[in-house]
Amino acid sequence: MNEYFDIIIVGGGPAGLTAALYARRAGKSVLVLEKAGIGGQIASSPRVENFPAVPGVSGAELADRLYRQAEALGARIELEEVLEVQNGAPKTVVTDYAAYSCAALILATGMTHRTLGLPGEDTLSGISFCAVCDGAFYENRSVAVCGGGNTALQDALFLADLCRRVTLIHRRDTFRGDPILLKALKKRENVTLLPETVIDALQGRDGALTGLTLRDLRTGEEPLLAVDALFEAVGQTPESALARALAVADDGGFIPAGEDCRTGADGIFAAGDCRCKAVRQLTTACADGAVAAIAACSYCDREGTIPSA
Ligand code: NAP
Repeated sequence: MNEYFDIIIVGGGPAGLTAALYARRAGKSVLVLEKAGIGGQIASSPRVENFPAVPGVSGAELADRLYRQAEALGARIELEEVLEVQNGAPKTVVTDYAAYSCAALILATGMTHRTLGLPGEDTLSGISFCAVCDGAFYENRSVAVCGGGNTALQDALFLADLCRRVTLIHRRDTFRGDPILLKALKKRENVTLLPETVIDALQGRDGALTGLTLRDLRTGEEPLLAVDALFEAVGQTPESALARALAVADDGGFIPAGEDCRTGADGIFAAGDCRCKAVRQLTTACADGAVAAIAACSYCDREGTIPSA
């Protein structure tokens, strides 16, 4: 017989770990399944300045604290990839390692990084999606960051402390990231902003990135920028395979669920960035985690299936 939990949470980011914390405090047995790294995308954020009461904490530190808090409360947390869910009573969750049963399921699967779709992006070394993870490899060298959101601005600031030169390439003349970050970047002498510019091609030699063919959208000029690394920060798309398989995703892969985090499927809840919503922030991910856990606990109390021994 599969090991049984009241609630299984898919995803060990802020939404999933907050859900685990709330569900454990409500006395439910909880399993968190995470396929990649605990903390989700926040773990690679250089510095989190907007989480209430903990200003200036690194994403990795915040993720570690969330993990330890949920684990200390008795949540079981496993690094396993969920391959399949059978939505019955109880539900069966099959991973690459084991199969489990549960009464309620919370999908907190988050987002994954978008790519530029350029030839060589998958194969050249020097292409990165995580400045915190890979920035140190390019100490005192020239790098570029692509994107105009908070991730791009934060990455450029982080890299400006390490690298000789940082060029921030953005396709528009305005940045959607926070003005406070843009203001800080403009003060850095080793940072060049290239607005209204796109990357048309990646140049490489011996398998390593050597430069970028740019296109200035105002003049049509196509300069070559020599760089040792490109940090792509062009947004994210939802991790939607599981939600699509469960028929709870919309066409874009996000999960329609109201403020109570209930999806269209019985006993399945959605929390965090994978849910359809207007504001995707750490604070709203944690809020979703709490709400989804409370809804899932009510569901367990009402419908929970205690398997026979
Ligand atoms: P984002 O806000 O969606 O920004 C993505 C950026 O990439 C946009 O500037 C977009 O350009 C650009 N882009 C998209 N596709 C592109 C392409 N094919 N070629 C070139 N550029 C492309 O993504 P994000 O910065 O990762 O942020 C995601 C969410 O997390 C946001 O809600 C953000 O506020 C939040 N976040 C918050 C913090 C924080 O500390 N507050 C830190 C990181 C992230 P356009 O502007 O032209 O669309």
